Amino acid sequence: MKVFKKSFTQQEPIPEAGIAAAVEVMRSGCLHRYNTLPDEKSETDLLELEFAAYQGVPYCLACASGGYALHIAMRAAGVSAGDRVLCNAFTLAPVPGAIHNSGAEAVLVGVDDDYCIDLEDLESRAEETAARFFLLSHMRGHIVDMHRVMEICNRNDLFLIEDCAHTMGAGWNGRKSGTFGDVACFSAQTYKHVNSGEGGFLTTRHPEVMARAVILSGSYMLYEHHFAAPPKETYDQISYETPNYSGRMDNLRAAILRPQLSELDNQCERWNRRYRALEKILRTCSLILIPKRLEAEQFVGSSIQFSLPHFREEQVLKVVEYCGVRGVVLKWFGDSVPRGYTSRYDSWRYLSRLSPLTRTEQILSTLLDMRIPLTFSRKDCALIADIIVDVVQECRT
Ligand SMILES: *Cc1c(COP(=O)(O)O)cnc(C)c1O
Repeated sequence: MKVFKKSFTQQEPIPEAGIAAAVEVMRSGCLHRYNTLPDEKSETDLLELEFAAYQGVPYCLACASGGYALHIAMRAAGVSAGDRVLCNAFTLAPVPGAIHNSGAEAVLVGVDDDYCIDLEDLESRAEETAARFFLLSHMRGHIVDMHRVMEICNRNDLFLIEDCAHTMGAGWNGRKSGTFGDVACFSAQTYKHVNSGEGGFLTTRHPEVMARAVILSGSYMLYEHHFAAPPKETYDQISYETPNYSGRMDNLRAAILRPQLSELDNQCERWNRRYRALEKILRTCSLILIPKRLEAEQFVGSSIQFSLPHFREEQVLKVVEYCGVRGVVLKWFGDSVPRGYTSRYDSWRYLSRLSPLTRTEQILSTLLDMRIPLTFSRKDCALIADIIVDVVQECRT
């Protein structure tokens, strides 16, 4: 019996250049982002300039976490108590959490057969609730038809915030993920595409939104020390009217991130090679369904999802269990009990007006997910896929 021995939570080390830069920051004692000489740019300043350039947008704010970026994105967009924010029902808990934190009400939108947000459901809920804000998660790296999304946003006058926690480095139709909406948020948490333990980014083209985000993030009156940011006049009113929700990035984490950013495209290719190695074998099994992805979708395969459409719940659970015994860690998004990082929408009981999403539950009920750490080789991926196919066939009856 084949067994896989490596850990699904082991990431690659921080690049040596990042370690050296971090040591330099510690030697200097200047860990706070505003702890600079008059003409000096801190590691955090440079990181923001570099990520703005990478995305091809004028403004970038580095901050405490991806979830924090989502929260201040909404505040900076003008979300206030009682507003409605459309968002995916199939996403991670920090997304509805960020909406709740901004005082707004989440309006959950269902998932479609390709694991993307259901655009028909989106449009009907937008019309029915007259929501003005849409927080779109490119959940698990699945990018919905962005052309249609933009049409829906324009028709319904929706302010679009993209949650790119799983699409840093990805694109749609040759354009970077995160450059379609009004604001985009990214995470630098250990299990995303760059790793500083915790960390996040907010990018936008709107000067006022950016100015509010900078003040919200805890800039005090030091907003002129932001370089991927609008000119200081933009802050004239905003600096008085915007609260400080302290959640800055620090120079230590920025130092660790900068060399990772210059390696990002290369890392994305390495993920995709591993993804394809897994996919190729999983597709040989007729019981396993991997939805086709549109050609326009330049995704990053840092995780893989598949469905077992003919399986009942207890069979899906058996697959998870037997794979686990053989060292392959799968997550089941259909689980009615929240476990680890995974929770189904109906377990966010603090949300008001939680109504059942039958189609979404059906799709999630056979949907499995697996992380693809870069510490796995392509050979490892082939072994993992063989084990999954074996187990799926074994659990068929
Ligand atoms: C991780 C994640 C977040 C939040 O990022 P943190 O940096 O952990 O706060 C938001 N949305 C999605 C889809 C995520 O996976």
